[in-house]
Amino acid sequence: GSFIHSHGTKVFMRPKLDDVLDAVQQARFNEKRWVWIEHEQYGYVRAHVLQDSDGVIEVELDSGLTTRVESDKVYPMNPPKFDMVEDMAELTYLNEPSVIHNLTLRYKADHVYTYSGLFLVAVNPYRKLPIYSDDSIQSYRGRRRGEMPPHIYAVADQAYHDMLQDKENQSILITGESGAGKTENTKIVIQYLTTVANTKRDNKLEQQILQANPILEAFGNAQTIRNNNSSRFGKFIRIEFNMQAQISGANIEWYLLEKSRVHQQSPQERNYHIFYQLLNADESIKEQLLLGNGRPSDYGYTKDSNSVIDGVDDAEEFKTLMKSLDIMGLEHKEKLDLFRIIAAVLHLGNLVVTPDYRGDRADIKDFAAVERVCHLLGIPAQDFKNSLLSPRIKAGRDWVNQSKSPSQVKASLDALAKTLYERNFASLVERVNHAIDGKKLSDKMGFIGVLDIAGFEIFKVNSFEQLCINYTNEKLQQFFNHNMFVLEQEEYQREKINWSYIDFGLDLQPTIDLIEKTNPIGILSCLEEECVAPRGNDDRFLEKLSKIWDNDEGDAKYKSTRFKDGFIVKHYAGDVEYSTSGWIDKNKDPLNEDTTRLLARSTQRYVAGLFEDYLNDTSASDYRDIKQQYHQRGSPTTTPSTRSSMISSSAASSPSSSSLTLFKLRKGGGSFRTVGQRHKQQLLSLMNTLYMTHPHFVRCILPNDCKHSGEIQTKLVLDQLRCNGVLEGIRICRKGFPNRLSFADFRKRYEILCPTILKPNQFIDGRTACQQLLDQMELEPEKYRIGTTKIFFKATVLAELEEVRDRR
Ligand code: ATP
Ligand code: MG
Repeated sequence: GSFIHSHGTKVFMRPKLDDVLDAVQQARFNEKRWVWIEHEQYGYVRAHVLQDSDGVIEVELDSGLTTRVESDKVYPMNPPKFDMVEDMAELTYLNEPSVIHNLTLRYKADHVYTYSGLFLVAVNPYRKLPIYSDDSIQSYRGRRRGEMPPHIYAVADQAYHDMLQDKENQSILITGESGAGKTENTKIVIQYLTTVANTKRDNKLEQQILQANPILEAFGNAQTIRNNNSSRFGKFIRIEFNMQAQISGANIEWYLLEKSRVHQQSPQERNYHIFYQLLNADESIKEQLLLGNGRPSDYGYTKDSNSVIDGVDDAEEFKTLMKSLDIMGLEHKEKLDLFRIIAAVLHLGNLVVTPDYRGDRADIKDFAAVERVCHLLGIPAQDFKNSLLSPRIKAGRDWVNQSKSPSQVKASLDALAKTLYERNFASLVERVNHAIDGKKLSDKMGFIGVLDIAGFEIFKVNSFEQLCINYTNEKLQQFFNHNMFVLEQEEYQREKINWSYIDFGLDLQPTIDLIEKTNPIGILSCLEEECVAPRGNDDRFLEKLSKIWDNDEGDAKYKSTRFKDGFIVKHYAGDVEYSTSGWIDKNKDPLNEDTTRLLARSTQRYVAGLFEDYLNDTSASDYRDIKQQYHQRGSPTTTPSTRSSMISSSAASSPSSSSLTLFKLRKGGGSFRTVGQRHKQQLLSLMNTLYMTHPHFVRCILPNDCKHSGEIQTKLVLDQLRCNGVLEGIRICRKGFPNRLSFADFRKRYEILCPTILKPNQFIDGRTACQQLLDQMELEPEKYRIGTTKIFFKATVLAELEEVRDRR
């Protein structure tokens, strides 16, 4: 049989391989009233009802155990013909156990893709499936959803098809937890597009676009506990097409690189892949970078964590990377410059900071080690050392030297390593973009953008990084909800039916306001204020925040925590408790300005380029304003060589140590940006782009926490389905009229239920015929709407009609 899916596409139900077996199963199912009940260990288990009275139901489990359950903890089970249904929106009973049951059955049969209304749900198979072949690609070309089993290819093809047909930009939004398969699916989308939109063989541009990923992965991915190849940044890849529907270029935008990994990793994790790859490179390269025969265990930034990943050969990976860089068109010098920074970071991590002979000030005794760093970075060694140990800073009109403690110097070395790494990454992406940019041809058709970004993160301890990613997801979820609303509303209006569909995107606005609003001042702006305030600190930030947002209103999205060391935000995905310790520093990303000024004048052009915004850094006017503001409010104590100056500047996180500067974007007019502001800006721009596209949504699911194929952990999966909006999407969808049939289809299918009303050869128009059918069936009016070409049904109504029909 066929069904009409919620958004008008025709969806075919599982072909009945063995109708007899189905009938037997159905008969067996009909003997009892089957339900799902909650179970502590398994999430849900099957049972059948023995007795049902007054809100308490007595059930018997498969194990033979009988138990009494409250009726709202009992969920009806779908008949067996719904098993393995390809679109979960078709399920008669759309409750959590039915959704998880369906996904589990499908997963065990290697059907890792399943639709759920507007979503494609993708469960990580953790093994190579034979569904990504070239033949497979061909079989999805130009096919409609429902004609083929659910697949990421189907989504990619739909996007391609819609772009050609509607001349509209498309986006594919892929989210999910770490290890859920976002990046793999992103690569599969790009593989699909480069295949179908390519007419010539061995097209260089397509090759380059495909190579962008391994390059970004070497510098932006690392082994974590959850994922051996975890992306530590988000990205939006735009593939551009010309009027002949061929690929004409591409562009990559990146978000929130996890910089802290450069100087510290948890045990059982690693630093970024590139460090280990470089340390396994040819001797000639290592020699030039003063790495000799160094191994990961020889460097401060790599020695305390894993050095190898099971099944990964870093030497081979390095060769692959070099090939990719060649294809991208990088010259030898350019490659060496990239690695120069990586090597410099390794050497920076080996600088040992000790107290000097007086015991309070810092010293670096091994001058040769300093010289190695400076040789690579092209800066004078003595000046560099001075800039670290006693940077020259401006106090009012005068320049003075301010001595630093060992821990302060170590902190500024780490900060420098992080910044070098991030700027190198930024520059690499820019270089890749330059290669794949394509010619600025005028015959542009449009683009398909693929977003690969982490989903909601709710950890035991959540910090600023989690706030940024959850803020992003709040916006993306709002985008999804709004989109669903718009699509539904358009359809209802077209069909001129009475509707009262609500924009569920609005539900998310209060939380988004709390984070991004400037008046009243939200979390990000409040943090900003504290970052420029003379004695701003984490505690004051929190105090201010709770004064503004902590009120007793029932629907407040902000709550104070019990121990007042952070706050709770009510997110779409659940309540998240944030700890605010270190936020000022994380947001400001302080740098030793005296050092960056040296780097801006490096004899290595590449290095100087990375820091060119520090060449005349007072030219950034807003930055100067802030600096002036802060000097007016009281300049820091800067008398050199006195104990008191040491004390006043010893709080590493305090912005009153004035040699700290704020992270500035290289691009974008050298404007002043903290991490939070930069992210907010980037996110706004991403959202603007997305709102101009026709979106397609993919939700990746981690099946278990042990990287096994074939195993589903029910609770883990349910948690993800709750967080990522799949379950909520189903719920919202069912508030409207999710199922719809054309008049003709409805008549054809259900006339059999009322054989008496229509006489042979008598003309009767579709609308009237349907109305008569519905009257005869005595279907309650609130269960359906009759449009101008279709009938709309509330959820489960069609399935009930199907059951009646089946019994005939
Ligand atoms: P992170 O947020 O950490 O970057 P992610 O969602 O991008 O995680 P991936 O790196 O795409 O996760 O996937 C993790 C691993 O799971 C892959 O390295 C691969 O081993 C396996 N995997 C994911 N998707 C597939 C797939 N479709 N086929 C085979 N293996 C897969
Ligand atoms: Mg990834």
